[in-house]
Amino acid sequence: MRVLVIEDETKMAALLRRGLTEDGLTVDVAEDGEHGLPMAGSVPYDAVVLDVMLPGIDGIETCRRLRQDGVWAPVLMLTARGSLDDRVAGLDGGADDYLVKPFAFAELLARLRALVRRGSIERPPVIEVGDLRLDPGTRQVWRGDTEIELSSKEFTLLEIFMRHPGYVLSRTQILEQAWEYDFERRSNVVEVYVRYLRKKIDLPFERTSIETVRGAGYRLRKDGGSGDSSTSPTFSGE
Ligand code: CA
Repeated sequence: MRVLVIEDETKMAALLRRGLTEDGLTVDVAEDGEHGLPMAGSVPYDAVVLDVMLPGIDGIETCRRLRQDGVWAPVLMLTARGSLDDRVAGLDGGADDYLVKPFAFAELLARLRALVRRGSIERPPVIEVGDLRLDPGTRQVWRGDTEIELSSKEFTLLEIFMRHPGYVLSRTQILEQAWEYDFERRSNVVEVYVRYLRKKIDLPFERTSIETVRGAGYRLRKDGGSGDSSTSPTFSGE
């Protein structure tokens, strides 16, 4: 059983490492979310112990990003504050359980073991629009039987479209969902990425699935671009 501990306080981190190791677990420690996220993405951990109060991105945000990155290991959140708001936010962000500091080590161990026994988190279902398929769990995309390689941003964008097939999404709506945490918010970033996406999911397959709706935004056709539905013809290519 391999566990990732994300905790900035050196003493607490050392305590967790020693205690968990003594109990036979393999433990990696990250000092903050920025270091923890890539680690969690590259090693299949059985569980993540995550402190809420972290420098930089806090534990709640770190947890949200873990899930966004497709990491579904159970997360045990450590909170010093113990306020209800904190716990609710933590669980909303994808944490599976929380423990209020200070805690008894035996309790941490018991909770951790229970989480791991319960297994990985409920896997999000595969989304299908026409012959487009997107798996949020593994972050894979297919057009028919052909797998398509997308960048992380392209994937996020396509996932937003595929969760709203047939609906017109404004640039602002897309920007808020896909670029929520980025510092860079160039005004044409949505257009640029829609173009990237079309090059990968439409062009090679001679499809038109993402339509530009003049003055309103973009819409993913309900048929995924197969052309055999009567979606309105307001498309204007770029
Ligand atoms: Ca801390």
